[in-house]
Amino acid sequence: MKAVRLESIGNLFVREVPKPTPGPDDLLVRVEACGICGTDRHLLHGEFPSTPNTTLGHEFCGIVEARGSAVQGFEVGARITGDPNIACGRCPQCQDGRVNLCRNLQAIGIHRDGGLAEYVIVPQKQAVELPPQVKPEHGAFCEPLACCLHGIEVAQIRPGASVVVLGGGVIGLLVVQLARLAGAARVILSTRQQSRRQLALEIGATDSVDPTAADVVEQVAGPEGLAPGGVDVVIECAGVAETVQQSTRLAKAGGTVVILGVMPQGAKVEIEPFDILFRELRVLGSFINPFVHRRAALLVASGAIELDRLVTRQVGLDEAPSVIGAPPAPGEVKVLVVP
Ligand code: NAP
Ligand code: ZN
Repeated sequence: MKAVRLESIGNLFVREVPKPTPGPDDLLVRVEACGICGTDRHLLHGEFPSTPNTTLGHEFCGIVEARGSAVQGFEVGARITGDPNIACGRCPQCQDGRVNLCRNLQAIGIHRDGGLAEYVIVPQKQAVELPPQVKPEHGAFCEPLACCLHGIEVAQIRPGASVVVLGGGVIGLLVVQLARLAGAARVILSTRQQSRRQLALEIGATDSVDPTAADVVEQVAGPEGLAPGGVDVVIECAGVAETVQQSTRLAKAGGTVVILGVMPQGAKVEIEPFDILFRELRVLGSFINPFVHRRAALLVASGAIELDRLVTRQVGLDEAPSVIGAPPAPGEVKVLVVP
């Protein structure tokens, strides 16, 4: 079968590899769709550690073609989505219920072969069945949506809350929608591209701001701003120093800041501890997707999240290395690979 292999840092190729055989607890899944995400670019450039000679792809959805002898409850022909993050269950973090912080975390598409291939092996405990009518292109969004769902839970958005989302990539555009579903009365998106601001307004944002037009803090929290004094919750989804720096200044006194965007390891941002103390801000991280994949799948199946408009391109496996190897094109949100 064909697979997109990260042979070593910087070396990504489509290769012919043997079709995998499921172990006793595994499903053999024929991949129908797999998203490309920023993490794949980080892996290619060695900015995240990965195992050499691994097939990439951690946002996949497909059809069960064969089941291991110990598998229970998944029929051949069922459509499934896989939670790629496999926790060990034995380390102190796992035993405290913090499985996303597992010391021995192994991810499908990072440490073991992933979904940018014709077939992928999914351990049964990582699989969630999708109703047959769910489009595979939608099923591929369960993983990024799950990460956003965790962010929303960390943020503890209450009905009626005001929220700022910084960064209008796929993560920001999913967070905008989830914030509205969580009951936020006001959701303000800051992102540089006009097409994304427009899209956000059409799928749930109540307001948008252009960070290149004027100071974002002034536009939002200033005396003449959209939410003078700041908002209840700020969710940083850009992963750049500028937005991280804005985040604490956009939160109102007693407000919450959630960092979802990934900045390069070692990068630093100036913050003012006095401001965090004096305004008693909660500044929190949100890392991957503990115990949310099933609900993400249910949300996708419910149709409550606009996904079609987030897919800007569909490509085959042969094109995947060049898509991952290039920075996202202007206007691009999500590229899906359909093997
Ligand atoms: P993305 O497409 O790179 O989205 C980030 C967007 O932020 C950019 O496309 C850009 O859009 C916008 N941006 C950049 N500079 C900005 C600025 N100064 N002000 C406002 N917006 C700015 O990536 P993504 O897939 O949506 O992911 C977003 C972040 O979440 C990444 O860092 C990713 O690694 C991280 N992530 C975290 C988790 C987790 O578990 N915590 C899971 C998945 C992804 P414009 O060009 O429109 O400004
Ligand atoms: Zn563990």
